[in-house]
Amino acid sequence: MKPAAFDYYAPDTLEEALAVLAERGDEAKILAGGQSLVPLLNMRLAKPEALVDINRLAELDYIREEDDWLAVGAITRQRALERYPLVRQRLPLIADSLHYLGHAQIRNRGTIGGNLAHADPASELPATLVAMGGELVVASAAGRRTLAPEEFYLTYLTTTLDPTELLVEARFRLPTGRHGGAFVELSRRHGDYAMVGVAVQLELAPDGTLARAGIGMCGAGPVPIKAAAAEALLVGERPSEQVFAEAGVRAAEQAEPESDIHASADYRRDMVRVLTVRALRLALQRATAAPDR
Ligand SMILES: Cc1cc2nc3c(=O)[nH]c(=O)nc-3n(C[C@H](O)[C@H](O)[C@H](O)COP(=O)(O)OP(=O)(O)OC[C@H]3O[C@@H](n4cnc5c(N)ncnc54)[C@H](O)[C@@H]3O)c2cc1C
Repeated sequence: MKPAAFDYYAPDTLEEALAVLAERGDEAKILAGGQSLVPLLNMRLAKPEALVDINRLAELDYIREEDDWLAVGAITRQRALERYPLVRQRLPLIADSLHYLGHAQIRNRGTIGGNLAHADPASELPATLVAMGGELVVASAAGRRTLAPEEFYLTYLTTTLDPTELLVEARFRLPTGRHGGAFVELSRRHGDYAMVGVAVQLELAPDGTLARAGIGMCGAGPVPIKAAAAEALLVGERPSEQVFAEAGVRAAEQAEPESDIHASADYRRDMVRVLTVRALRLALQRATAAPDR
C-alpha cells in the first residue's frame, strides 16, 4: 500500500515548524515516530495534503528534571524515557506503562508526543500522565499554553489541539516523600493496546496514611479517565485491603466502557475494579519499600 501524494516539509527549528502549521495547519499532519500515522497513510485512512516531519527538531528531544516536574520534549523516543535513570530507579509507573506500550522496536522510534497526541483511549501513557497529575504544553506561532489531560483529550483519537498547534512537552509531576507507582493492564498479548489498564501513583504521609493518590484508566472510555472519586476516598486513609476494594468499586463506577469485539462493557468495567485493586497493592508495596525522595 502506498500513501496518497502529499507536500513534505522537514523544518529544522520549532519556529519554522510553527510557521508551516500557521500556513497549512488545516490540511497538514504532523509526522513524529510514524508508528501510528504511517500505517494510516499507507492504508489511505488519512490523506493529508501536507506532512510536517518534526524529527529534525532537536530542541524537542530532551528529558529534564525541573523542581517538581519531569519535563519531556515531544520528540523524545519512548525508549529513551523508559531507560532514563530516574524513571528506572524511582518512577516505576512510567517504566511499567512504557514497557506495555508496543514492543522495544516500536518504542525506539515512537515518540512521547506522538503517543500522547494520537489520543488512543486504550493507550497506556495518557493514563499514566493522568495518574501523575501531569500537564501538556502546546505551542503555535501565537504562543504557548499548558493544559491538564482533562482539557487536552476530547474523545476517541481527538484532542483540543488547534491545527496550527504542536504538542511540545509532556510534564510529569514528581511524587515526594515515600512514594510508589504501578501500571497493570489486561491485553490479549504483550505489546497489544490495553483492553483495560490502570495507572496508580501513591504518596505516603510520615504517619503512613495516604497523602496523595492518583489513578488513571485506559480502555475504560473515550478518553483517559481520572478516577477522581476513588482518589478522594483514598487520601487521608490508612491503606488497607478494605479501602482498596472500595476504591476499586468507585473507579469502576466512573468508567465509561463500551462493548467491542474484544470485550463487553460489563467485563471491562469489572476489570477496572480488579486492576485498580492490583495496581494499588503493587504501588503500596513499592512505596513502603522505597526511601524518601
Ligand atoms: C505493532 C504496534 C503495536 C502498538 N502497540 C501500542 C500499545 O500497546 N500502546 C500504545 O499506546 N501504542 C501502541 N502503538 C502505537 C505507538 O506507540 C506509536 O508510537 C504512538 O501511538 C504514536 O507515536 P509516534 O511518535 O509514532 O507518532 P506518529 O505515528 O508520527 O503520529 C501519531 C499522531 O500524532 C500526531 N502527532 C505526532 N506528534 C505530534 C506532536 N508533537 N504534536 C501534535 N500532534 C502530533 C500525528 O499527526 C498523528 O496524528 C503500537 C504501534 C504498533 C505499530
